[in-house]
Amino acid sequence: MKLAERLSQAIAAGIRRIGQVSIRPDLAGAAYALCHIEDEAADPHSLEIHNGAAAARDISTWAEDGHYRFTKSELSLKRGWILRLSSADELKQALDLFYPAGVGLWMADKDDHLKIEHLRDKLNRQTGMYRFARNLGDAGAQKLVREVCGPSNCCVKKILWQIDSNTPLEDSEASRFDGVVGAFDRQAAIPLLCREACNHFVAEARKASKAENDAKR
Ligand code: SF4
Repeated sequence: MKLAERLSQAIAAGIRRIGQVSIRPDLAGAAYALCHIEDEAADPHSLEIHNGAAAARDISTWAEDGHYRFTKSELSLKRGWILRLSSADELKQALDLFYPAGVGLWMADKDDHLKIEHLRDKLNRQTGMYRFARNLGDAGAQKLVREVCGPSNCCVKKILWQIDSNTPLEDSEASRFDGVVGAFDRQAAIPLLCREACNHFVAEARKASKAENDAKR
């Protein structure tokens, strides 16, 4: 079955959110409509109406304060819009623009097919200027998770990876976060999943590794 069809079934079964996006099958005369989770109670006429999946790119590129949203899992989606979509295919395309691969990763996880790459494996395959990231110690890596990941650092993904297969992440807000924004029924939300450290994390790992090395001199 196509991902869009499975998504449609999930919506029919009660899924209503992913990240900061509310999924509304009952709004604005469209097959599906999306809005910011903090605009769920707003009068639809007070929101700016957009049509078609491609508009999701414009809505999600810049934050309210005008900064470029460096990663789409950043907790900075702007408010004040409704996106009308005509089909499950369009819904899937729009959600992929808001949260790239978010729906697919969730479904792969539900099917037990999601491949997870632990941090050591990710860092060990870095080349060029990023190869220095390989030398980051475990303590430095654990600290970096607390400083880079989690809602306090503006990322709303649930971390699935460990330092390596024998070394879980230490308990912290970042390692505990479940990928669902706010107080909301977890059964009605698609959690955002982090299956491997992102480029931002790797870049920070490189800097932290160099700092560790400098401190030893
Ligand atoms: S590594 Fe994952 S959880 Fe951490 S900041 Fe990057 S995307 Fe977010």
